[in-house]
Amino acid sequence: MVYLVVALLVVVIVVLVIKMGSFFGGLPVLNYHKISSGNDADFLTVTTSQLREQFDYLNKKGYTTVFISDVIAHLEQKKPLPRKSVMITLDDGYRDNFTSLYPLLKAYNIKANIFLVAGFIQSPDNRHMDPNPMGEFMHVDEAVAMSKDMVQYGLHTYSHQSYSKLSLAEIETDISKTKERLKELGIPVQPCHAYTFGAYNQKDENKRQAMFELLKRHDIRLAFRVSNWVDKLPLQHSLFVSRIHVSGVFPFWKFKVCVWGFIKVFNRFEKILR
Ligand SMILES: [Zn+2]
Repeated sequence: MVYLVVALLVVVIVVLVIKMGSFFGGLPVLNYHKISSGNDADFLTVTTSQLREQFDYLNKKGYTTVFISDVIAHLEQKKPLPRKSVMITLDDGYRDNFTSLYPLLKAYNIKANIFLVAGFIQSPDNRHMDPNPMGEFMHVDEAVAMSKDMVQYGLHTYSHQSYSKLSLAEIETDISKTKERLKELGIPVQPCHAYTFGAYNQKDENKRQAMFELLKRHDIRLAFRVSNWVDKLPLQHSLFVSRIHVSGVFPFWKFKVCVWGFIKVFNRFEKILR
């Protein structure tokens, strides 16, 4: 009986490693939001001291960080990605991405991809606006400066609306408005989108398909959700690629589990054991 249980456990572990992990041709895409230089880590905020440890780990273990354009070239021109590729993404475009993250990206030679909420970027023509309740967002010149070396940008709507709550016509207007605003501000952007709240109309198959067609019509070639899985390469669904949320409350070992692609399984076990 004991042998049977052990054998079953081994089979389950082997299947998990092959199917889900990043070990056999998976692309781990990590998702962050706010970066703090203080000690105020929370679900959406990772501190710079945590990041130093994480970036150091990625470098020491031989991971290569990739840009959105690398993944698109891999998808469309079959350009190979480095063997241990990892993608760093940040949502919303907080100002701390410039003040706290950018110096670390340069120090550790790490590439990052930031999904901007176009209407939140601070520019000379919107200085009159009230403070944003979500936090402080980057200035246009800061966004442009980062685009010169360590950062690429993608879309993340105009004012952080959920595409699951908008009609298709509203989504279409939002994409056009978002692209137009970024162009007006002179911020170079990749043909890539990250769904706000990770929502991609997953509960309505027809609307989801129609939205994908719409994204393609607007030349969006890659789009990200948050599912805490690692997708295998080549990507099967380029318009809802999995990302893993890296929480500031995770101990360091959990960050490693994120990179390996097993955080969802660990979180489930943890819930059961609690
Ligand atoms: Zn967001």
